[in-house]
Amino acid sequence: MTVSATNELTQRESELLAGVPTGLLINGAWRPAASGKTFDVEDPATGKVLLSIADAGVEDGAAALDAAVDAQEAWAATAPRERAEILRRAFELVTARADDFALLMTLEMGKPLAEARGEVTYGAEFLRWFSEEAVRSFGRFSQSPEGTSRLLVQKKPVGPCLLITPWNFPLAMATRKVAPAVAAGCTMVLKPANLTPLTSQLFAQVMLDAGLPAGVLNVVATSSAGAVTGPMIQDSRLRKLSFTGSTQVGRRLLADASQNVLRTSMELGGNAPFLVFEDADLDAAADGAMAAKLRNMGEACTAANRFIVQESVADEFAAKFAAKMAAMTTGRGTEPSTNVGPLIDAKSRDKVHSLVADAVADGAEAVVGGAPVDGPGYFYQPTVLKGVEPGARILTEEIFGPVAPIVTFKTEDEAVALANDTEFGLASYVFTKDLNRGLRMADRIEAGMMGLNAGVISNAAAPFGGVKQSGMGREGSIEGIAEYQYTQYIGMPNPHSM
Ligand code: NAP
Repeated sequence: MTVSATNELTQRESELLAGVPTGLLINGAWRPAASGKTFDVEDPATGKVLLSIADAGVEDGAAALDAAVDAQEAWAATAPRERAEILRRAFELVTARADDFALLMTLEMGKPLAEARGEVTYGAEFLRWFSEEAVRSFGRFSQSPEGTSRLLVQKKPVGPCLLITPWNFPLAMATRKVAPAVAAGCTMVLKPANLTPLTSQLFAQVMLDAGLPAGVLNVVATSSAGAVTGPMIQDSRLRKLSFTGSTQVGRRLLADASQNVLRTSMELGGNAPFLVFEDADLDAAADGAMAAKLRNMGEACTAANRFIVQESVADEFAAKFAAKMAAMTTGRGTEPSTNVGPLIDAKSRDKVHSLVADAVADGAEAVVGGAPVDGPGYFYQPTVLKGVEPGARILTEEIFGPVAPIVTFKTEDEAVALANDTEFGLASYVFTKDLNRGLRMADRIEAGMMGLNAGVISNAAAPFGGVKQSGMGREGSIEGIAEYQYTQYIGMPNPHSM
């Protein structure tokens, strides 16, 4: 396996980066940080700096929240159709610039270009979906059971929101929050991850180009997330926190949010089980495993983290899966031949390797891979581990890398017990030809989402979210807009009795 990461930016890459706004977006204008500070964004395939952008401080965060608060009333009063058309235009603009967004994500995050293009399609779909939802947000009108009053129920925007996104899906995580907030009539401050903020910068410019009024979307990239967002969370004018990231940080933010009883949506970590029963189509299961494991180099909250395979087919499944993993080409995401890009940073790569090393020290066997890749950038070999001991650290922690540990089971009950043996409950996958068994698994597995003979489940029209310590709330689908609305009830006497 070789990594052919070229260190120099091409002219096309340099021109694209030159067009990315480098300021903070506050009240419709890009401006430097009050402190004048900037921070560097690196290419994880080379470790080289791509661009330096404004580094927001507490003062900038406050200015962004002020702008969102000031814009809220007028924005809430806009016609749903107006908000819908802005989102629709944004969908068209992102789609027209799909190659730019894909390349930018590949540069700052590392994923192969083909995957980045897939994320543009997925991410843009939230803009289209919520442009359609914006005009289909209905209340109701009814009679009280006694007949003495009329009950009017309406949905209202919850108010200024703070949206905090992770680095792994730089476009989709932003559109999945911004689009429903816009559709509902909320204003917002977006704080992208400091490892991959450039896509959000470009996306915010597209939202302005699509006609979004000043102050509705404010963007504050920062190297000091807690210091900048802490005061916003304590500010009683903020009405909603939507966070996607690790359970560890989510827990802390939930505690902070409790001060003002802030409405929260939490999309947190995962530890997805991938169950293969002996009646499964093993070729389809191996294809599904590749998709569920290798998408985004395994750096996805939905990534299959534990392969739980019926003993009778475990060796055959492992051999098929390992052959596919061994055929992958690791390299810089911009190379057309690359299937697996770098991990996001040295810390992530080292963590992945320590999980693998621990499992191997406890008796697991690396059927393929098992080591970091030499060279610039933070690459790790696609790895399949057999004979992993139940209880191993690699089965309890989110791996966030291209590593697939396999454990075996004999009975359905044992499979369910293994699948549920985690504090997480985001995605799960089941491969079986028996539909009844598949539906039984859906009943028994504690997860917000299940792929039944499917390794890819994310879709803008589907409710995305978890249970247990994977979080609360749903993004996408008809549930997504409700996260940004509150229900107001208006009671009136029966007009016939007046
Ligand atoms: P992270 O470290 O929790 O960071 C997520 C975001 O929170 C980043 O913008 C980060 O800013 C910010 N942040 C960190 N500490 C903060 C603090 N004290 N106060 C306020 N904000 C803070 O997670 P990550 O490493 O970026 O992303 C990977 C994690 O996200 C994984 O656990 C993955 O499973 C999860 N994830 C979940 C979903 C889902 O839908 N459930 C989707 C994607 C990812 P900085 O970048 O500046 O540190």
